[in-house]
Amino acid sequence: MIQHILARYGEISLKGKNRSEFERILLRNMRAVLYSWPQIQLERSGGRIMVTLHEAPWRDVAERLSRVFGVVSLSPIEVAPLSLQGMIDAAAEVLVREQEQAFVSGGPQDPSVLSFKIEVRRPNKGFPMTSPEIAAAIGERLLNAVPGLQVNVHTPQVVVYVEVRNHETFIYGVKVPAVGGLPVGSAAKVGLLLSGGIDSPVAGWLSLKRGVTLECIHFHSYPFTSERALQKVEDLTQVLANWGGRVRLHTVHFTEVQIDIHKYCPENLEITVMRRMMLRIAEEIAQRNHWLALVTGDSLGQVASQTLESIHVINAVTRLPVLRPLISEDKVDIMAKARMIGSYETSILPYEDCCTVFVPKNPRTRPTLAETERAESNLDIPRLVAEAAERTTVKTFFLDRSEV
Ligand code: ATP
Ligand code: MG
Repeated sequence: MIQHILARYGEISLKGKNRSEFERILLRNMRAVLYSWPQIQLERSGGRIMVTLHEAPWRDVAERLSRVFGVVSLSPIEVAPLSLQGMIDAAAEVLVREQEQAFVSGGPQDPSVLSFKIEVRRPNKGFPMTSPEIAAAIGERLLNAVPGLQVNVHTPQVVVYVEVRNHETFIYGVKVPAVGGLPVGSAAKVGLLLSGGIDSPVAGWLSLKRGVTLECIHFHSYPFTSERALQKVEDLTQVLANWGGRVRLHTVHFTEVQIDIHKYCPENLEITVMRRMMLRIAEEIAQRNHWLALVTGDSLGQVASQTLESIHVINAVTRLPVLRPLISEDKVDIMAKARMIGSYETSILPYEDCCTVFVPKNPRTRPTLAETERAESNLDIPRLVAEAAERTTVKTFFLDRSEV
C-alpha cells in the first residue's frame, strides 16, 4: 500500500531568494487540486515535496498532481527505517510492483525475467555503509528472494532508487513525468485575447505554464454571432481554469465597433483595423486590471492577419508587450497540444466568432501603417474604445470540482 508520493519541481529550485515564495505558491496550487482528499499532507523535504496520502488512492492523486504547473515528476515511494533490512524489504516491494507493472504493459521481451539495478544516494554520511556497499547488499538479497530478476547496471528495465536520509530511507522505482513549468501565480497578470478558435486557448495554456495569472478577453458581436459562440468561449475559459485555477473572462460587446468599421473603412483593411481596435480596447482593459502584457494565438503566416506586415501594423497601436507563444508553431503541433490540454473538441465546434462575420473577399495580407491609419481616419477611436470598455462584462471561472 503506497503511503507517500514524492513530487519534484525543477526550475523553482534555481530561483535563489524567491524560492520559498515559489514553494509556497506551488504548495497552495497542489492543495487546490487535491480537494477530494482533505486528509493529504504536503511537506517540503530537501528541495522536493512529500505527499503523505493517508489512504488516498495514489494513482488518482498522482494524476491530479501531474497537471499542476511547476511539478516536474512524481514517484510513489516507500519510506523505510534506517537499516539494511528495512531497505531490502522496501526495495523488494518496489521491485515486485514494478515487475507486475512491466508485465502488464508488455515491458520485458522475456516475461519471465526482469532486469534491474539499485542506485543509492547517501545524503546521510553517518550511515555505516557506503553507497556501493548498500547497492550490492540490497541487489544480492533481492536476487535470492524474488524470482525472475537479473542485475543489469547498463540498461536495466527498472531502476530502484534508494536514498539514505538522516532519519529514514526513501525507496522508489518509477518517475512519472508531470507537466513542468512554473506555478501559476508566480508571475504577473496577463490578458489573453481568447477567440473561439484552436490557437488562443493553447497560447493561454502556454502562458499559464510560465506561471502567469491569466485573465481572458473576448470580443463578441451579438447578434451577428450567436449565444452559442459565447458559450464556447466560456467553455474554453473553463478548460483553462481547470489547469490554472481562477480565470476571469472579460467579454467586450464589440458589435458597435464592427458596424462602424464596416461603415467607414475600406473593405480590404477591415480585418487589420478590427485587430487594431481589439488591441486598443484590450490595452484599456489591461490598464484597469493591472495586466502587464497581452497574449494572442498568432502564428506567423497562418492567415492574412498574421503576416509580419500585418502583425507590425496591428502591434503599432499598443505599448504593452504582446506575447505570442505560438508564433513559430506549426498548426499540426498546435492541434496536438489543444487535444492534450482538452480544448480541441470545443474549439472545433462550428459556431463562428466575430471575425468570420465581416470577412472581406480580398483582405490585404501586407498592409502598411500609412494606409491603415488613413483607413481609420473616419473612426472616432477614443469614443469607440471608451464605450466598448464600459460595455464589458466579467465572469469568473474556477477549477472544476465536479470530480469529487
Ligand atoms: P484562434 O484559433 O486563436 O482563433 P486564428 O488562427 O483563428 O486563431 P485569428 O482569427 O486571425 O487566428 O486570430 C488571431 C488572434 O487574435 C487569436 O489567436 C486571438 O488571440 C485574437 N482574436 C481573434 N478573434 C478574437 C476575438 N473575437 N476575441 C478575442 N481575441 C480574438
Ligand atoms: Mg480565430
